[in-house]
Amino acid sequence: MRGRGERRRPRRRPRHARPARPPGRGAGPGDRLPAWAGHPVRDELAARLGLPVVLDKDTNAAALGLALRPAAPGSFAYVHLGTGLGVGLVLGGAPLRGDRTGAGELGHQTVQLDGPPCGCGGRGCLEVLCLAAVTRGELAEAARILGTGAANLVRLLDIDQVLLGGRVVLAAPEAFAEGVREVLTGLGLTAPVGLATGRDAVAEGAAWLTLAPVFGK
Ligand SMILES: [Zn+2]
Repeated sequence: MRGRGERRRPRRRPRHARPARPPGRGAGPGDRLPAWAGHPVRDELAARLGLPVVLDKDTNAAALGLALRPAAPGSFAYVHLGTGLGVGLVLGGAPLRGDRTGAGELGHQTVQLDGPPCGCGGRGCLEVLCLAAVTRGELAEAARILGTGAANLVRLLDIDQVLLGGRVVLAAPEAFAEGVREVLTGLGLTAPVGLATGRDAVAEGAAWLTLAPVFGK
């Protein structure tokens, strides 16, 4: 048992990449593309292209790419705010996808009982509240909501770091980073909050989905 203050040593060469079973075969339930639900996207693309195709969530791909960057922490959450709110999780150096690649659906955690309806069928989800604040132009409030979700993750998983990314965050990176930091600090949580800036984290991760095994990662 680890004592207070002892941290697990980050693994420098995270086990990547290819999970015990391949990332995915087809589209999930899909609140955005319902007509695609259950469609064997991977197999169909592979057949048409004549090339191997890997299918995964954008957040899982980004988390993989970030885990393979130098000096990546052993456990972190990549929190992505774009057209939706999702998370890619890395625990013990390896991406956590869940059995159906559905882990990390932070956006659909209910934080307001009987709140506004969400596309997932629930109400008061983090995603619908956060995007509504963005639409109103209230970035500080959006960051506070995002920070609440990040704090829930830190408390649930005891992760080393929170990394923020996605189109909406990167349009006002410091506002979001500072707002999320404020929530965590106010709750006495010490996990640092960073930004996945620079290269496109999702595109880079998607490339690693294919290339990681080639490079033995
Ligand atoms: Zn929802």
